[in-house]
Amino acid sequence: MRLIILLFFITSLFACDTSTNLSAYNDYTKAKQNYIQSILDNNKNKKIQALKEIVKCGRFLGFNVNKYDKRLKQLESAKSIQVNKPQFQNPLKIESNYIKLLSINPIKIKLSKKMYVKFSTLYRKGKYYKIFDIYNAKVNRTTVKKIGSFILKIAQNNKKRVRVVLSSNKKFKIKYHSKPNLVITILSQSKKKYTKTYVKKNRIIVIDAGHGGKDPGGIGAYHIKEKNIVLPLAKYLKYELIKRGYKVYLTRDRDKFITLKNRTKFANQKKADLFISLHCNIAPKHPEIYGIETYFLSPARSTRAKTVAKLENSAIGNLRTTTQNIVLNFLNKNRIIDSTKLALDIQKSLIYNLKRHYKRIKDGGVRPAPFWVLVGTQMPAILIETGFISNKKEALRLKNRIYQKRYAKYIAEGIDNYFRKNP
Ligand SMILES: [Zn+2]
Repeated sequence: MRLIILLFFITSLFACDTSTNLSAYNDYTKAKQNYIQSILDNNKNKKIQALKEIVKCGRFLGFNVNKYDKRLKQLESAKSIQVNKPQFQNPLKIESNYIKLLSINPIKIKLSKKMYVKFSTLYRKGKYYKIFDIYNAKVNRTTVKKIGSFILKIAQNNKKRVRVVLSSNKKFKIKYHSKPNLVITILSQSKKKYTKTYVKKNRIIVIDAGHGGKDPGGIGAYHIKEKNIVLPLAKYLKYELIKRGYKVYLTRDRDKFITLKNRTKFANQKKADLFISLHCNIAPKHPEIYGIETYFLSPARSTRAKTVAKLENSAIGNLRTTTQNIVLNFLNKNRIIDSTKLALDIQKSLIYNLKRHYKRIKDGGVRPAPFWVLVGTQMPAILIETGFISNKKEALRLKNRIYQKRYAKYIAEGIDNYFRKNP
């Protein structure tokens, strides 16, 4: 009996798998998809279920999920009101609340004065949606119309809201106004291939090979120096990214000392879209420890993250911890979210792909940490602890050219995935 209760407790608590950041992120993404589906299905219970999951996983990952939490509370309170409230309708009032589809080219919908429109867009499973929520409105029945390669759907979404959805398999642009009536004009349908190359060619990425010159970084097994591992890796990564159509700059292309401040300054000057800093981990007292970790800039929450950050931050010298914390507290929340997404896409690609070629690839996870080199950047920025050079096996791998080339390729794939999802 106790076991059953416990099991129930565990499953209800950990619907979001928080064993690693990666699995939590997977559940978070899945929950978001479920939420979108529940909106399209207009299924309140599913909505609540999905929102709970989003909030739980999101909080675990350090995302700002306040808007989802707010929506969840609204739905939950609406649920209880709906049960108790007697059904009462005023026929006269309702009559004036009906909307009317006047034409489809352009799409013209007759509105009344009390109605107002909220617009949103959505991309899901290869389909693009433009959604117009008309509040204080009603329809007699659901209407679905095919307009060329577009589908227009008008349906009652809840008691007070009519949802007008325009969807297509291809990306498209529209122009609309909602006063006095809702008029939607479809402007263009861009070809996917064109958009993809266009987006990529404009992307600038700064790769930062950690340390250099008088600063060797960590010194690991076989006296392998961190600065000498990350430099060729950065060069391979540059090559991979250029091949994929990105514009790439290296903070250093030789064994040279550069201050942390100048690394970020360089990225800002180049107006980079992403900043990728490459490093190696060391744990001299624990040579058995190995694994790949990706960090995004955020105030550290774990002792482990603090320790790693402290090592990498040593080049900033005597800057007080309190000063660091003040700066960290002013970090742009959206940039933290973007950096987290980037970190997760890269880590996922590295682990998944390296495992296809090598045994003993360890997912050290994606973590927040206060790396000073990431602080001054104005773009999403991450730091990859590519592996532990204090671990003999991983040190030799990191030194190996084939491993480095593959490593670079999989980072690039992670970056591709990030831009595909966040165009
Ligand atoms: Zn380092």
